[in-house]
Amino acid sequence: MPRGGIEETEWFSFLEVVQGVQLQQVQDRLGWSLDSFDSFSVSSVRYALDSRLVPSGDRGTRWNNWFPIKLNILVWRIQLSNIPTRERLSIRGVMVPSIMCPICMAAAETIDHIFAGCRDIWDSWGGLAIWWGVFLPSHISVQSLINWLDGVNLRRGQRKAFDAVIITSFWCLWNFRNMSAFGTVLPKKSVIF
Ligand SMILES: [Zn+2]
Repeated sequence: MPRGGIEETEWFSFLEVVQGVQLQQVQDRLGWSLDSFDSFSVSSVRYALDSRLVPSGDRGTRWNNWFPIKLNILVWRIQLSNIPTRERLSIRGVMVPSIMCPICMAAAETIDHIFAGCRDIWDSWGGLAIWWGVFLPSHISVQSLINWLDGVNLRRGQRKAFDAVIITSFWCLWNFRNMSAFGTVLPKKSVIF
């Protein structure tokens, strides 16, 4: 959930950065490992966060300029398996109430599970395929859904729109997941599509 105006994704990245920090006694002060054991600085935290949150360009990314950059970044981070799922947080030592998927409660919450494997979200991808008159990927995974555009037969003008729908779907699923995990009232699955 947003804390102090920052996005949840950034908040968890901040937690991960801070948890990885080592402090070292240097003469009469504590050194801060993000800054070569120099004193604490906000800029060193900002740099560490940016290196996690901002694309470095070392992996091919398809940017859709119809959207705010945060939607593209979400999909990019999903591709890099860099999303704070309960399983990932647990592995990194963050206390979580459960590692189970907050939507179906039937499997561990991995990235592939939230966006592709969760039985409660299958209808969304299936509905999208029917809406666009295209086949679902033969094997549904995060990567095959991100690359879904490559295998569909759509006219040029439609392709960017379909890409936009895919990106929006990932964004909606992540928001639905957050509402399920942190909301006071469980959202209805019918609202996803
Ligand atoms: Zn699930």
